[in-house]
Amino acid sequence: MPIYEYWCDNCRRTMSSYQQGFHAPAPACPGCGKAGLSRVFSAFSVGRTHRDVYESILSDRQLTRGMMRNDPRALAEWNRRMSGGEKSPPEYEEITDRMDKGEWPATQIEQKKREKSGRRSGESKSS
Ligand SMILES: [Zn+2]
Repeated sequence: MPIYEYWCDNCRRTMSSYQQGFHAPAPACPGCGKAGLSRVFSAFSVGRTHRDVYESILSDRQLTRGMMRNDPRALAEWNRRMSGGEKSPPEYEEITDRMDKGEWPATQIEQKKREKSGRRSGESKSS
């Protein structure tokens, strides 16, 4: 179920809410009860800090439970959230994709590391 961000004018704060779908009616504010909150589309680009993201992840029981079980899908979700909705490099998307399917792409990660360090050691420092 997707999570959407909503903004309450009364409380001057955003909140996340699980919604059945994109066109589901806006929830009421849990703080003041104001109905029909406005959905925030760019929650991450308006100064949402990593700490906020972290806390919202920790408040997501299903996700934290998955992380504790070492469920790759939970980690994929974590990655997505920590990246702040930004598009990740293709190689990471592939990795996240695999984790979504419940696989640990350890071999790919090792491969990427080797490629990177190989490139670095190949550089000449003298000028
Ligand atoms: Zn409110």
